[in-house]
This record gives sequence, C-alpha cells and structure tokens, in this order.
Amino acid sequence: GAPIIDAPKCIGCVKCVKICPASALEMYFTPEEQKILDELAKQKGDSAAEEEVDEETARLQKMLSAYRGVWVFIEQTDGEAAKVSWELLGTGAELAKQLKVELCALVIGSGVEPLCGEAFAYGADKVYLLDAPVYRHYRTQPYNEAICHLIAKHKPEVILMGATGLGRDLAGAVATVIKTGLTADCTGLSIDDKRNLMQTRPAFGGNIMATIMCDKFRPQMATVRPHVMAMPDFVEGRTGTVVREDFAPVEESILTKVLEVISDRDGQDHVDIAGAEFIVSGGRGMVNRENFVLLQQFANEIGAVVGASRSAVDAGWMPHDRQVGQTGKTVRPKVYIACGISGAIQHMVGMQDSDIIIAINRDKDAPIFQIATYGIVGDLFQIVPALTRRLRELRK
Ligand code: FAD
Repeated sequence: GAPIIDAPKCIGCVKCVKICPASALEMYFTPEEQKILDELAKQKGDSAAEEEVDEETARLQKMLSAYRGVWVFIEQTDGEAAKVSWELLGTGAELAKQLKVELCALVIGSGVEPLCGEAFAYGADKVYLLDAPVYRHYRTQPYNEAICHLIAKHKPEVILMGATGLGRDLAGAVATVIKTGLTADCTGLSIDDKRNLMQTRPAFGGNIMATIMCDKFRPQMATVRPHVMAMPDFVEGRTGTVVREDFAPVEESILTKVLEVISDRDGQDHVDIAGAEFIVSGGRGMVNRENFVLLQQFANEIGAVVGASRSAVDAGWMPHDRQVGQTGKTVRPKVYIACGISGAIQHMVGMQDSDIIIAINRDKDAPIFQIATYGIVGDLFQIVPALTRRLRELRK
C-alpha cells in the first residue's frame, strides 16, 4: 500500500527514501523548505564535524611532535660499512638541516666502535651505538628488536636505510612491528612545510614518479638503493656524541643461529657494476650474445665493466647481475656508454645520475639522447670497433 506520511512529524531527513528496498519513494520540497533544511543540516554537521576534527588534529599533532631527529642505519659487515649508508648520511644531513634537528647514525654490531668516527666524518652529529656479541652477524630478530627498542626510547621522525638485501629485510621488519609506513627504493627525499618526508620513487612500472607521504605515523621510513644519492665529503677529524646503548637480546631467545658464513665471491670473477667508475652497456641493438665481445674489448681499453639493458639480459646475452635499471642495479659511474639501448624510463632510472653519459644509437630520436651528454648517431658495429682500434693505436 501507499506509505502514510505523518506530515507534522516529517523533518525531511530523506532516510525513508534511502532505505526503501524498492527505490519507490521520492521526496520534493518547495525552494523555501529546501533552504531551511540545508541551513539546519549545515549547522548541525559543521559543529559536530569541527569538534571531531579538532580533537583528532590535536591528538595527531601531539603524537607527531613527540618525534624528532633524522636517523640513518649504518649497515656493516665484519666492521666494514656499506657505502650506501654514508650516501644516506649525506641525504640525511640535508633533511636534518631543513627540519632543524640532529642527524644521528645507528651503529649496531660487535666490535664496531671505529665506525662511529667514520659516521661523524660523513656528517653525523650523534651515534647510537649498540655493540654486543649478539649482533656479530646480521640476523633479523636481534637487529629488529634493537631498532624498535631505540625508536620507542628516542622517537626519531625519519629513518633511512640502504635498499640492500639486509636493509630491505630489516626496514620491512621494523616498520611492521612499529606499525608505520615504509617507502622502498626512493630516488628523491625532501621535507614539506608540515615536516612530512616527501618520498619520491618510480611507480606503475616506472611510468610515473610518485611522491609518497606518511603524514599520520612516525617515524617515517624510507630505503634508498646504493649509488642513487651522492657521497658526502669525508671531513677528517669531525666529531660528535656517542650514545652507548646497552640493549642486547639474550642469545638463547634468538631463533636463527649463524653456523658458517660462505662468501659468494670466493674464487669467482665477480664484477660489481654498481661500484664501477666506467661502464659500457649493451642493449637489444647488440643483436646476439657473441657481439658483446666487441663491448668487452672496448671496455678493456678504458678500464670499464660491461653492463646491459633488461632486453639483453632477458635474451640471455648477459647475466642478471649486469642489468642496469629499475629491476637491475642503480649505477652512478663517471662515464656510462650506452650502445644500442633505446632509453626506456626503466633503464634510465638506473643510470641517469652518471657524471657523463655517451649514447651510441642509430635512431636519432631514441630517448636516450635526451639525457646523453654526448650522442653518436650511427651503427654501433662500426663505431665501437673503430673506437677500440683508435684507443689501441693511442696506447702504442
Ligand atoms: P630496445 O628498446 O629495443 O632498443 C634497442 C635500441 O638499439 C634501439 O634504440 C635501436 O635504435 C638501437 N639499435 C639497434 N641496432 C643498432 C645498431 N646497429 N647500432 C646502433 N643502435 C642500434 N629495462 C632495463 O634496461 N632495465 C631494467 O631494470 C628494466 N626494468 C623494467 C621493469 C619493468 C616493470 C618493466 C615493465 C620494464 C623494465 N625494463 C627494464 C624494460 C624496458 O622497458 C625496455 O624494454 C628495455 O630497457 C629496452 O631495452 P633496449 O633499450 O636494449 O631495447
């Protein structure tokens, strides 16, 4: 039957229209009625919402302001720091300056005190040092527990780690325990006017650069791959404060035991393209595996190592550890020579910060020429052997 409307009691809330299972109701108001209803709804909504927002904002502001300081985790193996940690101290120093806070290094290990001096020389103001036998070899559990303990105690607002195997493991574990956000593989870091860390990284297969913020949680965590950030100056004799922390989980509580460390580099001819100063890379334009010999001969003349695009790696012409780019290595050599590489964004994010980029490509419109310092338009099979020949002549 037709609904009965009790006109004096109807306040025009439209709830009956919304919940009618058959969507059979409509409600109309005269313009005057509509105006009154709008005004009433606004007053009611505004004050309730404002109160809620004020309370929420105050709670958030209080929590955010309890966290201060920029921390960089110093990754080390047998007392030797990973270079990326020093690179991050350079980035951390800029962030700390903008935030007007201290730059702190986090040194965890066994017999690692000498690293404190290095951390100061690379820009740290303070070092939190955890030195105990339980930290001798990296294991997720004790390192995770140690960092979570320090975060709860000192409340930093930013934590940076290298996007190495170790850093990726540790950062994810820490962020999960303390329930905060973590942005992996950042290529740019800066601070906005509300002290938020703006974390830029490639997204959607490298087709866009996304800037990610973690504005409701602290600390803000980010990882950065090696060679993405510039190495800061080493200032001999620079000093700072060492804060010795005595937190150390008991060995019996740790589930993982390190029985033996087997180096994957023992006896192997290991080529580290990420640390190389000169790189000659080949792409699909090399046509086959055998032609990479031409690049190796050229590379030998200039003391370079041979890298590759993903196309060349996928085709099986070069091993994966030589791949440059988003899913390969990030490199920052003095000279990067791209041969038969078109310059896809996923390749360029891995080499665009090289000091000098030389591109050899027969297509004058190839995107690689947009970032190349020097471009050679032509057939690499003529150009590369000619360069090798000329270099050999000059050597004589
Ligand atoms: P092509 O794009 O085919 O270019 C070959 C070039 O060689 C052309 O410009 C051509 O003009 C030139 N050429 C051909 N013959 C000659 C000649 N005789 N002389 C001179 N020039 C010649 N790619 C990477 O490299 N690294 C990554 O880490 C990576 N990660 C990726 C991740 C994702 C999620 C996706 C979707 C893609 C990724 N790619 C990556 C692939 C990337 O999109 C490109 O497909 C790839 O980089 C193209 O490789 P290329 O430049 O060797 O080949």
